[in-house]
Amino acid sequence: MKRPFADGTRAVVFSPGEFLGRLAAIIPPAWHNLTRFGGILAPAARDRPAVIPSTPVAADQDPHGHRVYCWAAMLKRIFGIDLTRCPRCGAEVRKLAVITEPQAIRQLLEHFGIHGPDPPSKLSAFTNTGQDLTYHPL
Ligand SMILES: [Zn+2]
Repeated sequence: MKRPFADGTRAVVFSPGEFLGRLAAIIPPAWHNLTRFGGILAPAARDRPAVIPSTPVAADQDPHGHRVYCWAAMLKRIFGIDLTRCPRCGAEVRKLAVITEPQAIRQLLEHFGIHGPDPPSKLSAFTNTGQDLTYHPL
């Protein structure tokens, strides 16, 4: 014990069952938040919206009312990386195509003069190939 109780008790002896019971009582339930907010920061506090920062990234809602973010919105929200804007001119970036064929990706990279490692195959995605995985923006 860090400090003795008010009555001078310096140690407490538990039976194994008592000890496990007390230990189990302080373990939080699975999947529960370990951070609890009270007062104005409590989840249902009337004035909470006035004191918490607003969510800068718009999100859609799923059928249950939960916010759903696309991957670009999540990157912006979590890391502050905005992939929806051109880093050079600030224009909105549009998705033109999704290319998944390794040969097409290779041809495209060669066309733009980018010589990186080959796109990972389905097998190498699960193995350590020792390839340089450093991100090199265009
Ligand atoms: Zn641009």
